[in-house]
Amino acid sequence: MLTLDGSLGEGGGQILRTALGLSLVTGLEFRIEKIRANRQKPGLQRQHLAAVQAAAAIGQAEVEGAEINSQQLAFHPRGVAPGDYAFAVGTAGSATLVFQTILPALMIAAKPSALVLEGGTHNPLAPPYEFLAKAFLPLVNRMGPNVRAKLDRHGFYPAGGGKMRMTIEPVTRLARLDLLDRGKLLGLRATAIIASLPYHVAERELKVLKRELSNHLRHSSPATRPPTLDPQALEVKSHGTGNALVVEVECASLTEVFVSFGELGVKAEVVAGRLAKDVRRFLEAGVAVGKHLADQILLPMALAGGGAFVTFPLSPHALTNIEVLKQFLPIEVRIEAANDLGVRVELTPNP
Ligand code: AMP
Repeated sequence: MLTLDGSLGEGGGQILRTALGLSLVTGLEFRIEKIRANRQKPGLQRQHLAAVQAAAAIGQAEVEGAEINSQQLAFHPRGVAPGDYAFAVGTAGSATLVFQTILPALMIAAKPSALVLEGGTHNPLAPPYEFLAKAFLPLVNRMGPNVRAKLDRHGFYPAGGGKMRMTIEPVTRLARLDLLDRGKLLGLRATAIIASLPYHVAERELKVLKRELSNHLRHSSPATRPPTLDPQALEVKSHGTGNALVVEVECASLTEVFVSFGELGVKAEVVAGRLAKDVRRFLEAGVAVGKHLADQILLPMALAGGGAFVTFPLSPHALTNIEVLKQFLPIEVRIEAANDLGVRVELTPNP
């Protein structure tokens, strides 16, 4: 049985989620101690517990320590059972993170699956639905499986209550994926999503994005038809108020997605300014993969037995994820400087 230290490196929930995902795939049992030791509220919170319960259902697993605030867990999987499942986080805890925990096993399972997930779909510090649907899943699908996502209801922090449906047609073997060059910039799509908030919030956010990013677009491409920013405001129904500002960066080889969330007491202009900075940083660095996509694409690439990508210097999240991957899979990860601003990450099998 593997023993993991939950305080390793970054010390957050991702160590647990990666371990659950890989335990399902490999059939290896594990024990984890000091769960989320470096977080303000250590131990299992609702979202982590939901991930444990979802993984236990999919993996027909026996689990010890699956309780709120628990800092220790033992997980004994008994074989992946694809099929139809519904999981509810129960609070605004991120349903997208629960989905990412069980996806690896289901995308290489023997039969298709259909999932209904309820909880937060637009949470700070977690992948928002649009990131999943437009950036992460298209890359996963390029590796072979056919994973489709549909958002039935937005769930914003803190009210939650979101709902999404996923269908997963698996493959027996994932194909290698290389993301070394994002290709030509085709355009930016900006969506200001608001729930039970005044329309001017969305308008003000889009105005800032247009101002901050248009110059960049004109200069980045001296072509006769430079890429443009396509803005839209989207009013949605949700259980509570919410505001998520999303920019999809469409490039010839992939789409990256960046997001900024409205917060009580933070001006719409500030929310948009933060996002414009993130998008500009990505455009200027010339990397293919942004910070969040980097830590999330590692696991699928490791399962495929190899892959490579160019990204920003790796975050503590990504470095910690690599350490967990290496405990479950015979994989080597080489990181080298790619240009002034980026690194090239290469995963190779370690026989
Ligand atoms: P943890 O902090 O350990 O619970 O992990 C959070 C996960 O959510 C990591 O995989 C992050 O990359 C991911 N994440 C956080 N913010 C975003 C974002 N804005 N877009 C996409 N993924 C995100």
